[in-house]
Amino acid sequence: MYRNFSIVPNIMFGRGSFNQLTDVIGPRKTGQDSFFVYILDDVFKGGTLEGRLPLQGRDLLLPVNVDDEPKTSYIDALVQRIRDYSPHLPVGVIGIGGGSAMDIAKAVSLLLTNPGSAADYQGWDLIKNPSVYHVAVPTLAGTGAEISRTAILTGPVKKLGINSDHTLFHQIILDPELLAGVPKEQWFYTGMDCYIHDVESLQGTYINAFSQAYGEKSLDLCRQVFLEEHPDKDDKLMMASYFGGMSIAYSQVGACHALSYGLSYVLGIHHGIGCCIAFDYLDEFYPQGVDEFRQMMARHGITLPRGLTVGMENDALELMVTTALNLVPLWENCLGPEWREKMSRERCLELYRRM
Ligand code: NAD
Ligand code: ZN
Repeated sequence: MYRNFSIVPNIMFGRGSFNQLTDVIGPRKTGQDSFFVYILDDVFKGGTLEGRLPLQGRDLLLPVNVDDEPKTSYIDALVQRIRDYSPHLPVGVIGIGGGSAMDIAKAVSLLLTNPGSAADYQGWDLIKNPSVYHVAVPTLAGTGAEISRTAILTGPVKKLGINSDHTLFHQIILDPELLAGVPKEQWFYTGMDCYIHDVESLQGTYINAFSQAYGEKSLDLCRQVFLEEHPDKDDKLMMASYFGGMSIAYSQVGACHALSYGLSYVLGIHHGIGCCIAFDYLDEFYPQGVDEFRQMMARHGITLPRGLTVGMENDALELMVTTALNLVPLWENCLGPEWREKMSRERCLELYRRM
C-alpha cells in the first residue's frame, strides 16, 4: 500500500525572511479578541530575536524551556495556560526554536482542538480534529521537524510522536540568519541528525526514487557544510534539513535512531547527541557513513561522551533494549523483514554496553 502523504503547504526561504512574518500571518486576525500564541525557545528570552517578534494586541508570548526534551505533561500545562488566558482559540501558534520548540508548537496546536492529554495521542493517526493554524520558524537546522508529520514527546510510558497529517505545519519560514548564534557543538549534533537521516534513509531497505532524490541532495549539502568551507553554509544546512526530512518521510530511519531512542528514554540524552553517540558504534551497519561522520567530527574538533552505560543497573539496560527493539519499522528498514534474526536482544545489549 502506498501512502498518500501530506506536506507543508506554504514555505518561505531566505535571509531576513523572518521580517515578513507579520505579512504572512497578520491577515488571519479577525477582531480585537483574536490573538496569536508565540512559543519561543527561552534561550532567546530578553534577546534581539524576542524584540523582533511582531506581538500586537492580545498576542500571548509563551517562552518554553527545552533543557529536557518535550514531555506530554509540559504540553498539557501549556494548553491549560492558553485556555486560562482566553475562552477563544488563538488564530495561530508560532513556534520559534529548534526541534524541541517546533514540536511543542505542533503538539500545543493539536491539543487545543483535541480533548484530553497529549499522551492520549502518542502513536499514529490518533488525532481526530484539525489543529489550530501553526507556523514554524526554525533557529537550528537538522531535525527536519519543520516538515515532518510528527511531534516527538516523552510521555508517562513511552517516547513516541504524535504522528498525523494534522501535525504538519501550515507554514514554515526558513531564515538562515537565525542560525547565527548556535553554539558549535549543538550546531554539529543537530546537523548530524540530518546527515544520519540521509544515511539511514539511503542505506535502508525502504529506499525508493522519491526518498533517494531528497536524501542524495541532502547528503551532498551536508558534505558541503561539514567537510568544506562555504559562506552560505547556514543556507545549505537549512535546505539539507528540509530535504533530509522529506527523504525519511517516504522511507524511514534505522538502527541509529532506534538506539538513540533508548538512550534518550532511559538516560534523558538529547536526540542529536544521542544519534551521534550511537552512530559511532555502527560501522557494521553503515561503514561508509560512519567513516565520513568521523571525518566530520575530527574536522570540527568534536569529542563525544563515552562510558555512558558503565555501571548501569541491568533493569535500566534492559529497558533501553526494549525501547530500541520496539521500533519495528526502523529495524525493518535497516535490516529487512527478517531483522529479528540479525538483531537479537543480546546484540542490542552488547551495542549499548559499548557506549
Ligand atoms: P533543541 O530544539 O532541543 O535545542 C537544543 C539547544 O539549542 C537548546 O538548548 C536550545 O535552547 C538551543 N538553541 C536553539 N536554537 C538556538 C540558536 N539559534 N542559538 C542558540 N541556541 C539555540 O535541538 P534540536 O536538535 O533542534 O531538536 C531536538 C528535538 O527535536 C528533540 O526533542 C527531538 O525529539 C526532536 N526531533 C523532532 C523531529 C520531528 O520530526 N518532529 C525529528 C528529530 C528530532
Ligand atoms: Zn533524527
